[in-house]
Amino acid sequence: MDLAWVESHRFASDRGSLALRPGERLLAGGTWLFSEPQPAVTGLVDLTALGWAPWEPLPDGGLRLAATCTVAQVQQAPWPAPALARQCADALLMSFKVQAAATVGGNLCLALPAGAMIALTASLAGEVVIWTPDGGERRTPVTEFVRGPELVDLLPGEVVRAVDLPARTLARPTALRRTSLTPHGRTAALVVGRREPDALVLTLTGSVPRPVVVTLPAGSPEQAVRAAVAAAGAEAGWYADPHGAPDWRAAQTGRLAAEVCAELAEGAP
Ligand SMILES: Cc1cc2nc3c(=O)[nH]c(=O)nc-3n(C[C@H](O)[C@H](O)[C@H](O)COP(=O)(O)OP(=O)(O)OC[C@H]3O[C@@H](n4cnc5c(N)ncnc54)[C@H](O)[C@@H]3O)c2cc1C
Repeated sequence: MDLAWVESHRFASDRGSLALRPGERLLAGGTWLFSEPQPAVTGLVDLTALGWAPWEPLPDGGLRLAATCTVAQVQQAPWPAPALARQCADALLMSFKVQAAATVGGNLCLALPAGAMIALTASLAGEVVIWTPDGGERRTPVTEFVRGPELVDLLPGEVVRAVDLPARTLARPTALRRTSLTPHGRTAALVVGRREPDALVLTLTGSVPRPVVVTLPAGSPEQAVRAAVAAAGAEAGWYADPHGAPDWRAAQTGRLAAEVCAELAEGAP
């Protein structure tokens, strides 16, 4: 849609040009920004000209995804275990045109419960790298960065630079389950499981307002998995919107978590 109030558009070329003037807003892929009226936005500052590599290997063997890395590029990154990235990209149910434009940073900053790049990076213990307006940098776990729908830990003038994924989680076995009210509907509940040597780490999104991590001892019986997920979801509050009622989401999340645990247990040594 046309943003009728926008009078200026400029490309950010370096860090200095990221300082926003009154009425300006950062623009990444624009797939959300251009999807609804933005009467408060009079100028756009385009991040895509900064030339950040979509992904970079980290010295410890981890992987950095740039904020401007698109959902399509995420799937081309050198993942030791590529299935999870593909599953999360598929969870967004976007057309190929949207996948080619929507970015990791935009998905995190929008902070929708159905944010599948949030699910991907939270489940791999990702850290958000934030550029602060004084020229510095700070880091925060994805699970703390996303605080609720359209609510993130970002102060005025701060810009998300990247998400760093540690080497220790990248090659671990994972399993993903998601559900929605309709076959091609928005994610209503999504569970990612990561198998660690002594534990199972479940990340819940879609059914809760912010990512919730549940860590269980390896080999926990289904009843214990369901109880732990029910308690963690209730504490965060089961999410309600037209894509699913909270009690239905709670039941679906318990079922998905049990399926994820069963799949990861099958492959356990
Ligand atoms: C067909 C369709 C399907 C969709 N499905 C889903 C879905 O299933 N789940 C979901 O979560 N979303 C969905 N969306 C919404 C949206 O497209 C995605 O969340 C997308 O990832 C947003 O990324 P973007 O780069 O387009 O962000 P933009 O629209 O460019 O920006 C979104 C917001 O983030 C801010 N921002 C962007 N980058 C940064 C940065 N680096 N630092 C600070 N602020 C920043 C912008 O200022 C803006 O406020 C869908 C959209 C469409 C059109």
